[in-house]
Amino acid sequence: MNTQYVKGDCLFTKINKLTKQYEYLTEDIETEVVIVGGGVTGAVLGYYFTKNNINAVVLEKSRIAHGSTSITTSLLQYELDSNAMNLKQYTSIDNIIRSYKLGLKALDEIEEFINENGNACDFKKVDSFLYTAKDIEIKEIKQEYDIRNKAGFPVEFISKENNEFSFNVKAGVLSKGGGAQIDPYKYTQELFKVSCEKGLRVYENTEVVDVKYSENEVVVETIYGHKVKGKIIIVATGYNTNLFSERAFGTKTTTFNIATKPINNIEDIYKGVNVRDNEDPYNYLRTTTDNRIIIGGEDINFIPDISNEKLCNENYDKLEQRLKNLFPKLNIDIEYRYCGAFASTQDNLGFLGKDPKNSKLWYCLGYGANGILFSVLGGMMLSKLYSGEVNKDLKLFKVNRFDS
Ligand SMILES: Cc1cc2nc3c(=O)[nH]c(=O)nc-3n(C[C@H](O)[C@H](O)[C@H](O)COP(=O)(O)OP(=O)(O)OC[C@H]3O[C@@H](n4cnc5c(N)ncnc54)[C@H](O)[C@@H]3O)c2cc1C
Repeated sequence: MNTQYVKGDCLFTKINKLTKQYEYLTEDIETEVVIVGGGVTGAVLGYYFTKNNINAVVLEKSRIAHGSTSITTSLLQYELDSNAMNLKQYTSIDNIIRSYKLGLKALDEIEEFINENGNACDFKKVDSFLYTAKDIEIKEIKQEYDIRNKAGFPVEFISKENNEFSFNVKAGVLSKGGGAQIDPYKYTQELFKVSCEKGLRVYENTEVVDVKYSENEVVVETIYGHKVKGKIIIVATGYNTNLFSERAFGTKTTTFNIATKPINNIEDIYKGVNVRDNEDPYNYLRTTTDNRIIIGGEDINFIPDISNEKLCNENYDKLEQRLKNLFPKLNIDIEYRYCGAFASTQDNLGFLGKDPKNSKLWYCLGYGANGILFSVLGGMMLSKLYSGEVNKDLKLFKVNRFDS
């Protein structure tokens, strides 16, 4: 069966113009680092390796930013998918707090990129809000607030009494400046543009079909027979890693997103905060610079071939209903519906680093709802690792951390 990782009309690839098309590979070439995958992760890696003067090549089998990068909600926030007390069974509170701090670091890094290169990616810093509408979950949300407050994060506890949101909130944690929104398609294109000006080479329509390892090099074979020789390969292929490893990275689900048409009076009612509810599975929502709302969630067990229109429509309808219940005063008209693969891990962190059995095979896999921030951390830490600098935080993202 042909696995389909993305389905539907994706907001970001539909509303944005194609600014640049890259050639496919027509000759054998050499480099230091071969990055496989031209989504946001490949782009971030390309940026950091080039910035650190390391020769790199990106190979993308189809088109830039048309994989999961095209369906991501791109709601950036330092907190993880689950609350600290729920994650405690898989890791320590210290590690969770450290992950939150790394999330803030990654947000700062993106902001720095924007400050240096201009805001061509609709980047906007916002607050983020985790909430529950259920009495039974008030205690859990209060605990999450206490943990973050004690660790020094700028948070405010929201209760029924001081709730200024238009929807029903029993308890919530408002993180001041704890989030951001970005257009993932524009961000990916911009990262490649900036990096190519500094020497990164990017090839579209160039599928990697085989990899051979020897003592001193990696030889990557592409679909039309041309080879790329390098010192290491980094897998940045998102939720599809089968060609490179037999390892099962994360638990796959199929997840759904819908985006509204631009809404006129949106700012009177919804002030652009990133919102996540405490349901299981959760829903999350954000706004865009052209005043749309994107809401995502309703994850179900992974379906490799998402051809079941009825199933997709049922989940899109649930999201639409949730949105309408949250904002009954807004004139909500859905314009885009799309879905695709997603993968999460027990501790909510991605995988960054070397294969335990092959030091020439590296991974940068932004699994979990903070995938984009993990990719940024991967870019920063892996480009330093290549030059021998081991960041102690890499251990949080170790590829074999769940091996028994
Ligand atoms: C619905 C949804 C919502 C999400 N929401 C958020 C969010 O709000 N915030 C957040 O931070 N993260 C979010 N994530 C996670 C985030 O989107 C992902 O971490 C990110 O998009 C992954 O990007 P990527 O470049 O690793 O993968 P992709 O964009 O899938 O890119 C991988 C690329 O590799 C290419 N490829 C695969 N195999 C080969 C090969 N053999 N040769 C060459 N190329 C190959 C593919 O064609 C593809 O373009 C969400 C994910 C989904 C699915």
